[in-house]
Amino acid sequence: MSYKVTLIPGDGIGPEVTQAALICVDALGLDIEWETKIAGKSSMDQGGELLPKDTIDSIKKNKVALKGPITTPVGSGFRSINVAIRQLFDLYVCLRPIKSFNSPKALYQDIDLIVIRENTEDLYAGVEFKEKDSDTDKLIEIINKTAQKKVRPGSAISIKPISRSASERITKFAFEYALANKRKKISCVHKANIMKYSDGLFLDSFIQIAQNYKDKIEYNDVIVDNLSMQLTQRPENFDMLVLPNLYGDIISDLGAGLVGGLGLAPGANIGQNIAVFEPTHGSAPRHAGKNKVNPAATILSAALMIKYLGETEKAIKLEKAVAAVVKEGKFLTYDLKADRNDPSAATTQEFAEAVAKKIKSF
Ligand code: NAD
Repeated sequence: MSYKVTLIPGDGIGPEVTQAALICVDALGLDIEWETKIAGKSSMDQGGELLPKDTIDSIKKNKVALKGPITTPVGSGFRSINVAIRQLFDLYVCLRPIKSFNSPKALYQDIDLIVIRENTEDLYAGVEFKEKDSDTDKLIEIINKTAQKKVRPGSAISIKPISRSASERITKFAFEYALANKRKKISCVHKANIMKYSDGLFLDSFIQIAQNYKDKIEYNDVIVDNLSMQLTQRPENFDMLVLPNLYGDIISDLGAGLVGGLGLAPGANIGQNIAVFEPTHGSAPRHAGKNKVNPAATILSAALMIKYLGETEKAIKLEKAVAAVVKEGKFLTYDLKADRNDPSAATTQEFAEAVAKKIKSF
C-alpha cells in the first residue's frame, strides 16, 4: 500500500531529527510519499505566514503528518503554532508513550507508561487578558461583583476552560485505547480539591464514562502533586494516565526524565480523522545544526504514525530497532551518555543509520 504524508521539518533541531526519522522509515521499505511543508519561524524567515494555507491544505488532504518542533517565543511574540495546529484540526488527543528502552540514563529500567493528555482546552486555550488593559479591568470588575473571591485590580488573567464534552471524549479515547492495547489501569489526574469546578468537571466526566468500562479496565484518580511524587518513587503504580492539557504537558516531561530524557519521548496528536506525529521535546535552538541531538523521539513518533497507518508490524520493527540500538549502547547520542561531553557520542545521523542497519538485520 502507498501513503502520502505531510512532512513539517520545523525549526531549531527539527530538520535534523525529522531527516533522521526519514532514514529509518526508508529502511522499513514502506511506500511513503512525503509532501514537505513549512510553518512557524521557518515560514516567517521566508516571508510567509506563520501557518501557511498550503501547509494547512496539505494536512487536510493527507490526513497524516510528521512534524518536527517549532519555536514559540516566550512572553511576547506570536502564539504557539504547535498549539494552533492541534486546535485547528481538533486533534483532541495527545498520546505520549513513556518507555525505558534500556537507556543507560533511565532512572527506572522497566517503565512502560501511557500518557493521554487532553489537547484542546484548559489553560492552553489561549484565552488571556493582559495587565493594564481596559477589557481586563472590565473583566476583573465583573468577577469581583459576582464571585466570592476577589481578583487584585491590575492583574493579568488566563482562563482555564474545561468542558464536559471534551473531558468525556478524552476519557472515552483512553478507555478504548486501553482495551485495544491490552492495558490494565487508567488513572485520572486532576487538582479537583482546589479547582472544584474546572478540574472537578474533568474528574466527574471521567468517573461517568469509566462506569461503562468498569468490568474491563481498572481505574482510579490521583491529585497531580501527589502523582508527581509517586511517579518519581513508584512509577510501577501507574499504567495509563489521562490528564487535562497543562498537567499532561508537565507530567509528560517528568515521564521523559524518568526514562532518560526528552530524546526518548515520542508523541501523537490525534483527532477524528487527522493525526500529527511529533516528539515531546521542543526545538532546542542552542543545539540546532550541530548534528548532535537524539533523534529517537522523532523516530519513535514515526513508529506511532506507521502504526496509525495500519502497518503495525513495521511499527513494531522500528520500535524494536531503536530499543536494540539504545540497549547495545554503541551509537548513543550525548544525552544518553553517562558523561554528556563524552567524545565517543554518536551524531544524530549515526544514531539513525544504526537504527536503519538494525532494521535491515532483522
Ligand atoms: P526543548 O525541549 O526544546 O529543550 C530543552 C532541553 O532538552 C534542550 O536544551 C536539550 O538539552 C534537551 N533536548 C531536547 N530535545 C532533545 C533531543 N532530541 N536530544 C537531546 N536533548 C534534547 O525545550 P525548550 O528549550 O523549553 O523550548 C525550545 C523551543 O521549543 C521553545 O520555543 C518552545 O516553545 C518550543 N517547543 C516546541 C514544541 C513543539 O514543537 N511541539 C514542544 C515544546 C517546546
